[in-house]
Amino acid sequence: MPGTEKQTNYFKIIYQLAVFAALFFMGLRLLYDKAYVADFEAYCPFGGLQALGSFFNLNSLSCSMTTMQIMMGVMLFAGAALFSKLFCGYICPLGTFSEWLGKLGNRLKTKVNVSESFDSSLRAIKYMLLFITFYFTLTSSELFCRKFDPYYAVASGFGSDVVLWYALAAIIILIAGSVIFRFFWCRYLCPFGALTNIFRYFWWFAGIAVLFLLLSFTGIEIPFIYPLLAFICAGYILEIVHIKKVKPLLTYISRSTTTCTGCGSCSKACPQEIDVAAMEKVAHIDCNLCGDCLCVCPEKDTLQINKRNVRWLPGTVLGILIISGLVAGSVFELPTINVKWGNTAQLEKAMTVTVEGLNNVKCYGTSVMYSDRLKEIEGVYGVATYVGKHSVKVLYDGERFIDEAALKEMLFKLQSGVAE
Ligand code: SF4
Ligand code: SF4
Repeated sequence: MPGTEKQTNYFKIIYQLAVFAALFFMGLRLLYDKAYVADFEAYCPFGGLQALGSFFNLNSLSCSMTTMQIMMGVMLFAGAALFSKLFCGYICPLGTFSEWLGKLGNRLKTKVNVSESFDSSLRAIKYMLLFITFYFTLTSSELFCRKFDPYYAVASGFGSDVVLWYALAAIIILIAGSVIFRFFWCRYLCPFGALTNIFRYFWWFAGIAVLFLLLSFTGIEIPFIYPLLAFICAGYILEIVHIKKVKPLLTYISRSTTTCTGCGSCSKACPQEIDVAAMEKVAHIDCNLCGDCLCVCPEKDTLQINKRNVRWLPGTVLGILIISGLVAGSVFELPTINVKWGNTAQLEKAMTVTVEGLNNVKCYGTSVMYSDRLKEIEGVYGVATYVGKHSVKVLYDGERFIDEAALKEMLFKLQSGVAE
C-alpha cells in the first residue's frame, strides 16, 4: 500500500483564520470609523438559542439578539446532531485560542494529564454554568453569559454588561488552563460546549423534548426549569457514561484495520488527544471532525470519513449550515418585545404604524424603555420592537392621531430619551 505525505489541514485553518481576520477588521474599523457600531455577537448561535428560550418563556428576545442569531443557533443544533461539533472545531474563537495555547503548552512541556475520574468530575462544571446561564437569561431576557464570557469581555472592550472580576477570572483561567490541560475551557467550563454535547445525544434530547411536550398538551403547566434540569442532568450523565460511544447520526471518522500499521500518528495529532489509533469508528464526544488526524495518516485511504475519501465534507457542510443560517435569519425577524396595554375594544380598532431608523432602540433594555415612554402617551396601545432593523410597530388610535406623518415624527423623537 503506497504511503502518503502529511498534509496541511487547509479546511480548518482557513475557517479559523477567517474568523480572526473578521474580528480584527471589526476592531480596526472601530478606530477609524466613528459612526461604525461593531456587533461582535452578530452571528452568535449560543446567544441565539438563549434568545429563543427567552422568547418561549417571556415572549421577548434577549439583549440585542435577533432572528439571525436564532437561525445560527438552529443550524448549530442541526450540525451538532447530524454531523458533529463543527462550530466548536472550526469557527469558535475561544476553541481556536485554546487549541493554539494547547500547542504552546506542548512546546513548553507544561501540559499535564488528568485521571479519568477527575476528568469526569470537572466536566460537570460546564453543565452547571449552562444551567445558570440559561436560568438567568430565560428569567430576565438579558444574556447572563455576557457577565463572564472572555470573548465578549475582550470584544466589547469590557463593556457595561461585563462583570469585571468574573471576566478577568475567566480570561486567566482560559489562558492558564489551556496551557496546562487539554482544551480546559471547552471540556470543563464552556456552557456552549455543554449544549452542543447535549445535541450530539440527539435521540435522548428528542425523547426528553417530546415527553415534556406531551405533558404540556395534557394541560399540565410545567415551569421551564424542569425540562432545563432534565436536559442538563441527562447531558452530563450521558457525557461521562457514553463518552466514547456517541452514536454518530451521519458522519464519523473511520479507520481501516486492514491497512492501518498502528503507527499512532493520528492519536498524536488529535488536538483533543483522542486515541484514534485504537478505534475503528471515532465515537468520542470530544471529536469535532476537525480532520487533523486525516491529514497525518501515512497510509492511503486508511483514516477516512464514513469510510470514504471525503475530507472536504465537514468544512463544506459547515459552509452550507452558515449560509443557510444567514439566509434564514435575514428572511424574517421576531420582535424583541411585543407588548399591548390597550383594552380589547381599543386594540380591536387600533391602527398600526411602522417607524424605522430608531438607532437608540437596539436591545431588550432600550425596547422596554421605549415602550415605557409610549405608555405615557394617550391613544397609544402597544408596541413591537425589532432591534435588528431598529424599527418599531406601534398600535394607536386612528381617530386621535389623524396625521400619520406627525405621529411618525413624534415616535421618532421619542427615542432621544432612550439610551443604555
Ligand atoms: S479524532 Fe480526528 S477529527 Fe476528531 S477531533 Fe481528533 S483529530 Fe479531529
Ligand atoms: S490510522 Fe493512525 S495508526 Fe493507523 S496508520 Fe493511520 S495514522 Fe497510523
